Amino acid sequence: MKKIESKLGSKTTSSRPSPHKQKEETGQRTSGNAVKAPKKKVAAVRNSSVSKTTLSARKRLVALAIEALKKEYPAPKCALEYETPFELLVAVVLSAQCTDKRVNMVLPGLFRRFPDVKAFAEAPVEEIEQAIQTCGLYRSKAANLSKTAKALVEKYEGIVPSTFEELITLPGVGRKTANCVLGVAFGVASGFVVDAHVLRLSQRIGFSDETTPEKVEDDLNRLTPRDEWINLSHRLIYLGRQYCVARSPKCETCPLASFCLKRF
Ligand code: SF4
Repeated sequence: MKKIESKLGSKTTSSRPSPHKQKEETGQRTSGNAVKAPKKKVAAVRNSSVSKTTLSARKRLVALAIEALKKEYPAPKCALEYETPFELLVAVVLSAQCTDKRVNMVLPGLFRRFPDVKAFAEAPVEEIEQAIQTCGLYRSKAANLSKTAKALVEKYEGIVPSTFEELITLPGVGRKTANCVLGVAFGVASGFVVDAHVLRLSQRIGFSDETTPEKVEDDLNRLTPRDEWINLSHRLIYLGRQYCVARSPKCETCPLASFCLKRF
């Protein structure tokens, strides 16, 4: 263990790329910001084996990650482009098993064709299918969007409700979508948004041993201060895209490298 601690203790930010311009679109301030975590905190976290990782060790791990990610990504925001809560709801439904980039390409044409909830509710499902067919799973997504728009018109006067309990009743709206819409559109932290990136990173970094989004969400809700839920989710997604990519994570330059458990 001494060897590991010594290695961790000697790790500095110098192995990371030199600072460069802040990227507005991701709110990222790259490089030169890697948190050199306090040796004692890092040792406490790294001393915990996967199976023995205690709640307090995990909380320390989350606290270190929050600190590092705040420096790396000072102004995180949702990557989906929307103007109203309904547009965000549509975008999040479309983003299932599809990249945000692809969704953002589809949205302008979709909202030109169906500009509001009423237009979606009245549109033949086949027309919605046609407008979103490059997003994948387009038949089920079109069916859900049509049913959701009809439910919004019939039960909520065309307005997206702002409670988790109401949102979750809409067709195609699961916990992730409800938490995302509430957090991003209404600033309500109802639960941690666990998408594919957050699920993968939570396991790798050591936040959770669970394998389902629901259980990982439970762990993250318990480990993370509520006022960090919304932004930490965005920041983990940024990290998942930039460093902790699915196939070849870039641990050498990752801002969490000094304390991440790197569980592949
Ligand atoms: S890239 Fe490596 S160090 Fe960074 S979060 Fe992923 S596994 Fe951990």
